[in-house]
Amino acid sequence: MNKFFFRLDDIAPNMNWENFNRLILIFDKYNVKPLLGVIPDNQDEELLKYPNNPDFWQIIAGLINKDYSMAQHGYQHIYKTQDGGVLNISKRGELAGLDFEIQKRMIGEGKNMLTEKKLKSEIFVAPGHSFDRNTIQALKENGFKYISDGIALYPFKKWGLVWLPQILWRPRKGLFGMITVALHSNTMTEEDFAKLEKFIEKNRKKIGGFSELADWRGNTGILANFFSFIANLIFKPVWRIIFKLKHGLSG
Ligand SMILES: [Zn+2]
Repeated sequence: MNKFFFRLDDIAPNMNWENFNRLILIFDKYNVKPLLGVIPDNQDEELLKYPNNPDFWQIIAGLINKDYSMAQHGYQHIYKTQDGGVLNISKRGELAGLDFEIQKRMIGEGKNMLTEKKLKSEIFVAPGHSFDRNTIQALKENGFKYISDGIALYPFKKWGLVWLPQILWRPRKGLFGMITVALHSNTMTEEDFAKLEKFIEKNRKKIGGFSELADWRGNTGILANFFSFIANLIFKPVWRIIFKLKHGLSG
């Protein structure tokens, strides 16, 4: 029960296409199927600086045809709130802290925009890891079943959603569990690419397709589920301490 999964964040018509294409070549070369975190209506000024590709939605549909997974990544990716939400990893975000009805509408509008492109997903990725109980409720009412986030080693169910934990931003050995590594292709450096490819090449057998992670809880026996529950329980405070030491965050 030790596998790595990849997630690509900030996927939108305006992005660093050179980096994105390079990343896709690596995943295709090793036949790895990551999760694409697609922004439904990107209005993020930082991302809008990148060139627009009018074929974006076709490209995404093509990748899904090749068994890539897709998640809805927020709505417009504008960091308006100063609220880290229940995880409190970032100090700002798009959703946490807003009224339930507003969040429900934002998530629903994003979902409708993806549906118009004939893309649908039951997985959500919150910008800045920033979500609260209202976000979770709004996700459920919009038909979402999974959130790709949380501090744990194995997927777990909480507040009516299945959480697919995400604790790494770069591949790293020496951890056990079902680990999601979130990559930000827009800002990846030459060194990041080299390290990533080396990691995939060396650890290919330990890398799963993202759909495998989403299905994991349903396919796992009682004993393994119990073991994962205990492992998660122990891991959370340990990770918090390490994270606080590294980033000096409080709360
Ligand atoms: Zn993002």
